[in-house]
Amino acid sequence: MIGRWLLGRDRQQRDDMQFTLIAFGVYAFSLLVQWKTVVDGVVSPAAATTLALVIGTCQLSFLVLIRSGLTRHLQDSGLVLVQIVVGILLIAWAYVINAHVNGMLLMLVALVLSYSALSLSPRACLGIGGFAVLVFAVVIVVATQVAPRTFPPEKEYIHLAFLAVVLPTLSYIGSRVSRMRLQLKRQRRELRASLESIEQIATRDELTGLRNRRFVNEWLRLQLAQSRRLDVVVCIALLDIDHFKRVNDVCGHAVGDRVLQEFASIAMGVVREGEVFARWGGEEFLWVMVGKNPNSAIHAVDRLRALVSQSACWATQPGWPVSFSAGVAPLDPREGIEQALRQADDALYRAKVGGRAQTLVH
Ligand code: GH3
Ligand code: MG
Ligand code: MG
Repeated sequence: MIGRWLLGRDRQQRDDMQFTLIAFGVYAFSLLVQWKTVVDGVVSPAAATTLALVIGTCQLSFLVLIRSGLTRHLQDSGLVLVQIVVGILLIAWAYVINAHVNGMLLMLVALVLSYSALSLSPRACLGIGGFAVLVFAVVIVVATQVAPRTFPPEKEYIHLAFLAVVLPTLSYIGSRVSRMRLQLKRQRRELRASLESIEQIATRDELTGLRNRRFVNEWLRLQLAQSRRLDVVVCIALLDIDHFKRVNDVCGHAVGDRVLQEFASIAMGVVREGEVFARWGGEEFLWVMVGKNPNSAIHAVDRLRALVSQSACWATQPGWPVSFSAGVAPLDPREGIEQALRQADDALYRAKVGGRAQTLVH
């Protein structure tokens, strides 16, 4: 509860807030140590207070900016780059006012740099390492020139030498981690896309784009369970294009394919949300209608028949009037799917024998 209030709901925002709060904690601890140096009379209270005020202002600003959501649309929503740059500059400042123990502060530079791997690009990781070396090189060169007694060159140049080796190594490691992180992200995206396309391939008919038999079988099973539980009526209609073989024989298989595609697209214009219109096989289709009794199912099928007969598309084919026959049956939850399919098939058979281009109910 408090965590949600403090960190926010959005996952990315929570991550950003967590990292910023950890940095906040490290700064707070460092300022406690700074306070001890003031009590011990090693550092002037004015210098330490100014540094503490600047650190506090910067950190609070980062927290407010991230928590308020103002940075949400930025690519670097956690302001990691800015926080690292500011961190390096603040540590360089602390390095100057804590000359007696400034070697310790170099650990903090390494800590700040380690953040870069978490959200910066590999190139930015390398860049920020170079920036840190440059800042400390300038600080150390100037400090040893201006106040060699406070900043003894024999100590300061050893610091610089280590910085010049450790920081680029650290930023190189950071860039490798960052590259792995990006790779992982890309792979996850590709995997998700592959899964989606596998699901499409497994449940859709390639020619018409309709759901296939495998999908509708599974879906019918779910519908049956639901109709048992919720007491909803479900009707199925088996549709079969009349004399389709002749279309193939006379006009060719390619025209036959186009007829199937056009038929499917007309049907999809009629099918309601929550219903399924699937290619059952060849030139047979199965329409599952939820919430329709046999009468309204016949009505829906006949509406489709009217649209199919009026389609302008057939005019582009060599004068072929396309019609279909249909058999309708209710899906009785007690009897099961097989029974309903058998009944619809019987009705379809009777529709064929009885002259085609008609809908009969079981
Ligand atoms: P009926 O009115 O009795 O249903 O006659 P019909 O000619 O439609 O039925 P029949 O079962 O004799 O023929 C179905 C034809 O559908 C045979 C098959 O080649 C064709 N067919 C099945 N799948 C496809 C397909 O994907 N593309 C094409 N072009 N033809 C197909
Ligand atoms: Mg047929
Ligand atoms: Mg058939």
